[in-house]
Amino acid sequence: MSILLTNTTYIQPETLEFSKTNILVSEGLEGGIEFLNQIPTDQKHTVVDCSGKYVTKSFANGHHHVYSALARGMGAPKKNPENFEEILQYIWWTLDKALDTDMMRASALVTAMACAKNGVTFAIDHHASPFAVKGSLETIAQAFDEVGLGHLLCYEISDRDGLDIARKGLEETADYLSNRQGLVGLHASFTVGDETLNQAVQLARETDSGIHIHVAEDLSDEAHCLETYHSRVVERLAKAGVPDFPKTILGHCLHLDNSERKLLANSPAWVVQNMESNLNNSVGLFSSRGLSERIMLGTDGMHSDMLRSAKAAFFAGHQSDAIDYSETYRRFRNVHNYLKSNNFKGDGDNNLVVLDYDTPTPFNSSNFLGHFLFGLESKHVQHVIAKGKIIVENGNLITVDEDRILKEARVQAERLWQKMS
Ligand SMILES: [Zn+2]
Repeated sequence: MSILLTNTTYIQPETLEFSKTNILVSEGLEGGIEFLNQIPTDQKHTVVDCSGKYVTKSFANGHHHVYSALARGMGAPKKNPENFEEILQYIWWTLDKALDTDMMRASALVTAMACAKNGVTFAIDHHASPFAVKGSLETIAQAFDEVGLGHLLCYEISDRDGLDIARKGLEETADYLSNRQGLVGLHASFTVGDETLNQAVQLARETDSGIHIHVAEDLSDEAHCLETYHSRVVERLAKAGVPDFPKTILGHCLHLDNSERKLLANSPAWVVQNMESNLNNSVGLFSSRGLSERIMLGTDGMHSDMLRSAKAAFFAGHQSDAIDYSETYRRFRNVHNYLKSNNFKGDGDNNLVVLDYDTPTPFNSSNFLGHFLFGLESKHVQHVIAKGKIIVENGNLITVDEDRILKEARVQAERLWQKMS
């Protein structure tokens, strides 16, 4: 059944034009929206009164990690990490080794729910569970489908737990890509040897996909590459063909030199900026210097709130990067261009948020960006429509039982923490 949003103000996501209208939203991957001057009198639609509300395209996350969802509030690691490599070793690689299917399903459901409630209807995820590789991507996909979210998943292939587990990651990716849209995930240059790297690129070629990998997140990735391969990270990846795919996503890209920036600017690959994660890990600040316009934003598993991620990109970035109001918004929305230009499904025009945004100052096309950075927050997300279906109504999920899922997640979180200790 289609949805009719009546008496609303629609904000065109690219031109930021405001128009008073009624919107007919049709369901499905091929569904769209239609603007109507008159409210139709037939009874064929679910009518949502949006008087005084704003409707615009919903949001999408360019880099997420379902696997980190149950980490919130867990105890201190065995050793207090002193640098980025120790953060991985003592926190994330201890956690991902302990994940099993029940924990992953709970992680995926709570991540999808958090996305939906923040107005995010599509997530690009990078998943690791080295001792439960097989079927992990399908488990996550089914959880996302249940909540109603669009997704582009990959498994984080790495040699860090041995070549046998790297091979399992390649097999899981090939299996998943035979049924679903997705990417070929690699962890990072410093945990992926040449054989695995070449096999992953080969798989991306065979499946008409792309690579999703962390690049120079910390200076140690560059140092390792120079010492081991006598090459900088992007040079090494470029030699293997990683940036040759327009579907390729390179996460972070903090410590690139000018030649690496030029290499990426001349490739069709995309870069994803994750400001809060970089601040949390004290690995440096992102700069777009010398890169192309193909930059989007992600949360790197820290949370699922893209409005917050955009604010962080601006507030922490505008001293070190050429990022102003409009550039922040452009990067925030660029993920839709990535998805559309690569023909990925699930992020069509029938993905919308209804914003209950009461403001003490005028709000219009000419000052939208000021409201975007200093006013609009996820608490203003009232309803969320994904693929033409209402998934959040008055701030509540209607596709799944939120209380039951959170209760089960707490059980799985305790199991995970116990297994890690
Ligand atoms: Zn990441």
